[in-house]
Amino acid sequence: MATTSYVPLLTNHFGQFNQTKAADMYPDTDFGSLNVFERLWVSWYVWIGNPVIATGLMSFLMHELVYFGRCIPWMMIDKMPYFRKWKLQPGKVPTNAQMWKCTKAVLFSHFTIELPQIWGFHPLAEYFGLATHSVPFPSWKLMAVQIALFFVFEDMFHYFAHRALHYGPLYKHIHKMHHEYAAPFGLAAEYAHPLEVLILGTGTIGGPLLYCLFRPDLHIFCVYVWVTLRLFQAIDAHSGYDFPWSLNRLIPFWSGADHHDFHHMAFTNNYSTSFRWWDHLLGTDNKYRAYKARVASARPEERAALEKQELEMVEKEGVKAERIAELGG
Ligand SMILES: [Zn+2]
Ligand SMILES: [Zn+2]
Repeated sequence: MATTSYVPLLTNHFGQFNQTKAADMYPDTDFGSLNVFERLWVSWYVWIGNPVIATGLMSFLMHELVYFGRCIPWMMIDKMPYFRKWKLQPGKVPTNAQMWKCTKAVLFSHFTIELPQIWGFHPLAEYFGLATHSVPFPSWKLMAVQIALFFVFEDMFHYFAHRALHYGPLYKHIHKMHHEYAAPFGLAAEYAHPLEVLILGTGTIGGPLLYCLFRPDLHIFCVYVWVTLRLFQAIDAHSGYDFPWSLNRLIPFWSGADHHDFHHMAFTNNYSTSFRWWDHLLGTDNKYRAYKARVASARPEERAALEKQELEMVEKEGVKAERIAELGG
């Protein structure tokens, strides 16, 4: 029996309807013991009234809000000359037409590919034992461990899948679209062929589903936190800027834009997403490291000129490498 027969936060607006629904969807739940996030969670599910629709809608809205919300600061930075000194490929600022093209393509893939996928996600999640509408949430400590595991899994999955996508036929028909921009920008993070979104998205959502096979304590709220952080990672890695306060300056194994920008420019090397260890271990960062070492060893007064020269060379080699990949296989 529910000790409190109403859902705080929304009850004044939705009255009796909520009380019946709440008692129906949350039997044996003491709403008074929930924190504000959990109450909002309950309110959302009770308000929508159907867990499949509530989860689907929330997943879709969250993705749009986080993706475009995170891109806005980068779009503003691109418009401010003050930040140009930290641009990894100087002068390669996206045009309005390029940003608009990416926005349209990303929205198109979200509505045509992702929306139907999300609709099928709830039954799949329930089948795997992922908690959705239930409260309370697991502890922050447990969620932190789960998210750390998802980061490590996604990075590994992405490394090998991304390397495979650089193989001739796969590159030509799928991954080429994402490489349209040799100097990426935030909005270009999800600018990719629908099949690529599907393949690489498996790394993001596969970790949580796999986790559910082993343990019964994963909540979709934790998956949302994970997806939000993963979107931040992807957009920031495509931003094109490396600031003195960027995360990779604080955590030496964090990839950041410095790492992924080189992948877009040189076309080879640096296949992973969040961490540098797979590229390091398997030697697929050799060109990147040699380039970094050459720039670092230059005298301060010559550094800018050398960097410019190096960038031009890497770019030329990248164009050649892309042509080889396309023709090969
Ligand atoms: Zn690539
Ligand atoms: Zn990329």
